[in-house]
Amino acid sequence: PLPEGERDMACVAPSITLPTPGPNSHKYTRGMVAIVAGGMAGASELASIAAMRAGAGYVLHLGEGQGPPHALVRKIFSADALQDARIGAIVVGPGLGRDDATRRMLDASLAAHRPLVIDGDALRLIDPTTIPAGSILTPHGGEFSHLFGQEGDKITRTRRAAAQTGAVIVHKGPDTVIAAPDGRVTVAGEGSPWLSTAGTGDVLAGAIGAMRAAGLDPFAAAGAGVWLHGAAARRLGPAFIADDLADALSAVRG
Ligand code: AMP
Ligand code: MG
Repeated sequence: PLPEGERDMACVAPSITLPTPGPNSHKYTRGMVAIVAGGMAGASELASIAAMRAGAGYVLHLGEGQGPPHALVRKIFSADALQDARIGAIVVGPGLGRDDATRRMLDASLAAHRPLVIDGDALRLIDPTTIPAGSILTPHGGEFSHLFGQEGDKITRTRRAAAQTGAVIVHKGPDTVIAAPDGRVTVAGEGSPWLSTAGTGDVLAGAIGAMRAAGLDPFAAAGAGVWLHGAAARRLGPAFIADDLADALSAVRG
């Protein structure tokens, strides 16, 4: 358990600042996101579209699938492509799969020394002691328990995991808890129950990647991405699908 004083620290209200292009912006200053794409290509395509709809200037879609029309798709994964100094965030995990080839893609992502958003299958493959500080992890309940166990209430567990790893943890659900290694924590409860549909987590990972690539620090990027995602869901109303959600990010980001 966290020390007494730390446990009592109030939840901080999220202050959301969405990065917005200025007159001299170009695609790289708006942020370049690399999406590491595995076998379930639909998931990484959703992440790519979401990254662009959340405001990224450039998406590099590495591996299987198509990506959105303006992403540069490289069908063959290459670790070298992740060395591009312009990459502001790497999103790894949506639809990645869990075989030896995708394990190598995860390892290459970790070795690239770029800001990381780690989601989905990457959270099943990763050894938690190897998570680079400053990463953003986006586990749902099952992924969280797999990595960090189930002891304690959601806020306590999430803060402990953030402190342990040095990463910002977005512990998803109707009460998404976002915790930073320094003890800051936010609870985002204003999404929509209609988010309980396949692919919405992939959209979130892409949106957070865009915020991180635009220069927000990990805690701010996570908060901004979760806020955008929830706002897009509320705007859509009932029975939307993840493709709609990714597209709706443009309209709510202001
Ligand atoms: P995933 O489980 O990775 O597909 O991610 C699902 C996304 O939908 C996360 O952002 C969750 O927080 C969100 N979500 C799922 N179910 C609900 C719910 N009942 N109410 C609000 N948000 C939800
Ligand atoms: Mg998921």
